[in-house]
Amino acid sequence: MKIIFLGTGEAFDENVPNNSHLVITEKTKLLLDCGYSVPQQFWKFNSDPNFLDAIYISHHHADHSFGLPAILMRMWEDGRKRKLTIFGFNGLRNYMEFAYKDFQKKFKYKINLVEVQEGSNVKFQDIKMSFQKTVHSGQNLAVKITDGKNSYAYSGDGSPIAGSNFYRDLDLFIAETYLYDQGKIGHASVVGAIKFSEENNIKCLALTHLNRDFRKNELPKIKETIKSDKVRIVIPEPLDEYNL
Ligand SMILES: [Zn+2]
Repeated sequence: MKIIFLGTGEAFDENVPNNSHLVITEKTKLLLDCGYSVPQQFWKFNSDPNFLDAIYISHHHADHSFGLPAILMRMWEDGRKRKLTIFGFNGLRNYMEFAYKDFQKKFKYKINLVEVQEGSNVKFQDIKMSFQKTVHSGQNLAVKITDGKNSYAYSGDGSPIAGSNFYRDLDLFIAETYLYDQGKIGHASVVGAIKFSEENNIKCLALTHLNRDFRKNELPKIKETIKSDKVRIVIPEPLDEYNL
């Protein structure tokens, strides 16, 4: 299982695209979240219109979902024919009508929209996905993905629910964090995510979605001090790869 980080930034960072990554297994290529600054990153990585099998959207906030119409439109322009599955919430049906009215009727490929919710267990090709809410300002579902050999989870936005086994023993946790040690409503902190990962026996923690000012001004000074005896910690940059 390979992870390719497309963007690792928060909503309004002028230097780092929105938080999004690809997971690539033997049989599956899945894009997780597609904010407004993600399509360009995705096309830089791979411009084949048939590359993706599926897309997962964690929640409706624009930095996680407003790139979707552009991705779908370019697939059509570039000649995609095979079906695309989109996992997410019910409101996604309106995105194409809002962004490019009537264009979806011209598409030569089918979109299979699968609504997921907390507690859903989805098998798709060679992966299994399960979902759990986080504490965020909009309803958001963290997703856990396993290919039978390795497991990782992606928070989407928000803090993980305490006292749950959902994240236990993961190989990788891609966590949304915002500030260093201060909680901000709807967001996790770096210190909080490290403590959570230690408590849940997580092997590697990837810190993403860091606040733009913290990332630019503070992080370079303290990067070497962000560590743990129990958990490997990475702070990925866009287009970094991680192998599980
Ligand atoms: Zn959000």
